[in-house]
Parts: sequence; structure tokens; C-alpha cells
Amino acid sequence: MFDHEKENEVHRALGTVIGLSVFAVRKYLDTYLEEFLSSANRFFMPGLPCVVYVLTDRPSDVPNINIRSGMSITILQVTRRARWQDISMLRFFDLRDLVLPLARNQVDYLFCMDVDQVFTSNYGPETLGDLVAQLHSGYYLANKEKFPYERNPLSAAFLAPSMGMFYYHGAVFGGTPTHLANLTSTCLRNILKDKENGLEAIWHDESHLNRYLALERLPSKVLSPEYCWDNRLWLRYHKLSWAEKYYETIRV
Ligand code: UDP
Ligand code: MN
Repeated sequence: MFDHEKENEVHRALGTVIGLSVFAVRKYLDTYLEEFLSSANRFFMPGLPCVVYVLTDRPSDVPNINIRSGMSITILQVTRRARWQDISMLRFFDLRDLVLPLARNQVDYLFCMDVDQVFTSNYGPETLGDLVAQLHSGYYLANKEKFPYERNPLSAAFLAPSMGMFYYHGAVFGGTPTHLANLTSTCLRNILKDKENGLEAIWHDESHLNRYLALERLPSKVLSPEYCWDNRLWLRYHKLSWAEKYYETIRV
């Protein structure tokens, strides 16, 4: 569908640089990071300059990957939060305070991704945009009423049945640093508001992301599910695929 090489030429002429941020905290580092990074090295924006931001509680355990020229890795240390829900949700805090201040000066577009996934074919410049969201591969065929938005009106992630068009996956979102600054600070503010009220949204950061993308700002680009495919479903050709989940052993 896309001529990557033609689009790459346009971006090379523009001098586009792309960022990719990923969190690998506690056991997620040993379980997923190496394969995430080596597959990104092969398939994430081949042909364009990339900066990968790895956020971890154990910088010295980040695997040494032989990365391609044009790609660099920046390791950032983050606080080890006690609950897996907070490790996941408070990524917005570290994105806002650690990644974006660097990204603003280093990249034109930034993707923020989960680590429990693997790039499986070229993930190219067709995905770039001001504000990019990912259709969740578990819900792209579902009726809107089935979307697992946060339905408690007391939560800052609340979406009423009449609201929202798509269910987006929290494992992939992106955009320009300016758009992501607004997204991360709004979602973080709402997460902290819920905490003050003793609430936690049903799908954590994903619920807040969905509310933001439904009510605050519509994405300028929506990626099809092949850009974050559930490996248990039918499609055999995709760009990025979920890795196996081992919740019992790796979540703390
Ligand atoms: N994460 C982490 N360590 C943890 C829990 C979560 O590094 O102990 C990060 C990691 O990047 C992970 C993301 O937070 O991919 C979201 O958590 P998870 O993938 O378990 O959520 P799911 O995709 O299953 O909803
Ligand atoms: Mn995940």
C-alpha cells in the first residue's frame, strides 16, 4: 500500500528524526526488552534517523544491541513504583518530565510504546502524524457499546455511551512533541485526580488515553490493527505483534 522508499526520500529531504520511547521496568526488562529493541532495530523506520528512549529502573541491565547506523539509544532511569498499575499509568509522568524535554529538541515525531510487543515487518513513515492513535485489535470489529471505556461518571476517564468513536490501544500512541506534551499532562492530571478520589480507571492509562482522544483532541491519524496485532488472532502479516503475556510471573 505504501512506497516506503519514496516517503523516506521526502523525510530525508526534510531532515525528519523519529523518536521511540519504551518502558522496561522490573521483570519486563528481562522478559521483553531485548526482542523489542532488536526488532525495532530491524523494522522501525528503516532508512530514517531514530532515537530510542529506554526508561528503566535498572539501566545497567539494558541489553547491548548492535544497532544500525542512524539509530541511537538513550537510557533514562525511572523510579521503581510499587504497583504494576502505577508502573503503567505513571508512564505519563515520566514521558512528560523525562522524555519530552529531550524529545522536543531531538525529534520531530515520537512514538510511545509498550515493551511487550515485537516488530514483525516494516513500520514506516506512513504512520507519522501530529497525533497518532492505534485501533485496538480486540475491538476494531466490536459495537461501540461494547468498548471498555471507563463508565463511572465520577472518574476523570469517564466516557458516556454516546461518546467516542473507536477504542484505542494504550500500547501505541504518537505524534509531535507538542501534541504529546498536551496529551501526557492532561492524562496525568486526570490520573492524579482519580487517585485523590480513591478511583482507578478500568484499563488504567488506556482509559485516560481513550478519553483524551475522544473528548480533548481527535487523532490526526488512526493506525489499523495490523500496527499492533494480537498474536492470538487470525492475521499472519502485520507490522507489530503482541508478545506472550506472563502476568502471573512478571507483574508485581
Ligand atoms: N511495564 C513495565 N514493568 C511492569 C509493568 C509494566 O515496564 O512491571 C510497562 C511495559 O512497558 C509494559 C507497559 O508498562 O509493556 C504496560 O503494561 P502491560 O504491557 O503489562 O499492559 P497490557 O498491555 O497487558 O495491558
Ligand atoms: Mn502491553
